[in-house]
Amino acid sequence: MQRDDWPCNTVSKPAGPSATVATIRARDYKPLDYADRRGHCHACGRRTVDYIEKLNGERKSRTDQAARRICEGCYQEAVRRGQVSAIPLPGTIVLSSMVRTTTDLGRCVICNLGNVAYCDREMQTNICQQCYDREVRANASAEGGAGP
Ligand SMILES: [Zn+2]
Ligand SMILES: [Zn+2]
Repeated sequence: MQRDDWPCNTVSKPAGPSATVATIRARDYKPLDYADRRGHCHACGRRTVDYIEKLNGERKSRTDQAARRICEGCYQEAVRRGQVSAIPLPGTIVLSSMVRTTTDLGRCVICNLGNVAYCDREMQTNICQQCYDREVRANASAEGGAGP
């Protein structure tokens, strides 16, 4: 029987991927023209990467400036997390004056991730479906009191 002295209390990992999905900001990534089936996702290690890091944001301040590549799943997860954490200032969004739009108005002003789905012409506030839905839910729980 072979026995190594396991360093049970040593949790630091000197090598290996330093990023996890939690540290990825979707806005720092852009889609690849073609999925790279031989690449490995920087966050989860899965095969096939669909997104590559842009040359701005965090990458500029790193010593290793090689572009990280991530898979579709991790990108979507980063988008979702970014949208959940993007909380608008109170009063920024007036639901009653929001109108659905199919015009391409760029990115949502709240999360800067989703495409604009609603706009407020007066306030010049363009927001995405996710931010709109979250605002609807927030309003409902604030008014109702009889929430879930
Ligand atoms: Zn991944
Ligand atoms: Zn949004």
